[in-house]
Amino acid sequence: MSVITKEPKKKSVQLPAQGMMENVMQQFNKAADYVGLHPNIRKILEITNNELVVKFPVKMDNGEVEVFTGYRVQHNNALGPYKGGLRYHPTVDIDAARALAMWMTWKTSLAGLPYGGGKGGIQLDPSKYSASELERITRRFTFALADNIGPEHDIPAPDVNTNSQTMAWIADTYMSTRSPAERTANQHVVTGKPDGSGGLEGRDRATGYGVYLSIKFWIAQQGETLENKTFIVQGFGNVGYWASHFLEAEGAKLVAVQDASGSIYHKEGISVAALSAYVNNGGTVASYQQAHSIANDAFFGTECDICIPAALGNQITETNAGTIKAKLVAEGANGPISVAGEQILLDKGIVVIPDILCNSGGVIGSYFEWLQNRNGELWLLDEVMAKLYKKLSEAYTKVANYAALEGIDLRTAAYCIAIKRIEKAYILRGIFP
Ligand code: NAD
Repeated sequence: MSVITKEPKKKSVQLPAQGMMENVMQQFNKAADYVGLHPNIRKILEITNNELVVKFPVKMDNGEVEVFTGYRVQHNNALGPYKGGLRYHPTVDIDAARALAMWMTWKTSLAGLPYGGGKGGIQLDPSKYSASELERITRRFTFALADNIGPEHDIPAPDVNTNSQTMAWIADTYMSTRSPAERTANQHVVTGKPDGSGGLEGRDRATGYGVYLSIKFWIAQQGETLENKTFIVQGFGNVGYWASHFLEAEGAKLVAVQDASGSIYHKEGISVAALSAYVNNGGTVASYQQAHSIANDAFFGTECDICIPAALGNQITETNAGTIKAKLVAEGANGPISVAGEQILLDKGIVVIPDILCNSGGVIGSYFEWLQNRNGELWLLDEVMAKLYKKLSEAYTKVANYAALEGIDLRTAAYCIAIKRIEKAYILRGIFP
């Protein structure tokens, strides 16, 4: 099939309601219509290349065997190996994995990385399992994925409820199950590993740093600073915590937090360091005493300048978008705003910094870790943060300039840049055979 000639713009196909998948397809279709994406490329990008569903048994601490379902979806690898996180959560299913894999393709393309997009995880509630059970579950999942992941093929990373420890178990299991000659050279099969075991200094904060920087860049464009700006955060995990940490360090004030345990508010400000210490010592956001408890459904309506959804997908929808008072919503999470929810925000003049730009610090940090491992180097924190700043500021400037030039929203601009890069790769390369 020829992919060389551009054809006229094609009208989007409307999909039935499918949660996150519907959102990512509508976002893609909007941008594909806008740039007049070649219909043949569109056919390729609207499907996923490979979808793996694995069932695997694991022995529990009490001697019983439990069977788990794991997923890995590889959306597209036109620009390089599949890249994307593994999530441990009851909402993980094939639909979520497909949508999240597609988002990764756009994100890596936008960031100018030599990667495609993938995503996966296990459908489970990790709070119900001991650390040793989670280790066995992770190792057996890695074994089941077998050669479907690999340092030059598909490179997982942490996501919701997975962390550097999870990545260390995956790397160790993957390397241990290779032939003797291949055992030591494969630690870049995953990124987000611990410092001291192939990890990158600063990878832990890379995503939150990117969220903070994109907010800072937008605020600067308004001729303002972060000093005394108020913000709210949904999700106080890796992304939510680090974004809050950097914002607070520049004088912004955290006034409300929501996590899986509940929601809290304090007009005078919630100390990020104190809340983090409390949560890391076994406390929950909901039981934190230096703030007031508020109803979960009142959270997004909190008075503030900046709202950061940094937990799960589809949190801001047509049912609550109208209550949002922030001037800016910065998507720390992947897909936290539904298409209908976003339209309400845009109609109210609220700016949205899209996930594929806002939280791309994580995959950029992962790329640096991968390069470090591949080249047998050890990078220092200052060096990592400077490189992150450069990549993130280039991506932000590219998107902001394109949006201003075309008079479109930031998400559509980000998608247009991302899909045009992939289209170009296909046009130059052609389609085998
Ligand atoms: P995490 O597991 O460290 O934290 C998740 C947080 O979300 C926790 O505070 C949890 O309590 C909260 N949460 C879970 N269910 C919730 C609910 N129903 N309501 C409110 N809060 C809830 O995960 P993370 O790594 O911080 O990832 C958060 C989001 O950021 C995800 O969408 C993930 O895909 C995205 N993301 C993460 C990275 C990364 O590097 N970790 C990179 C890019 C995007």
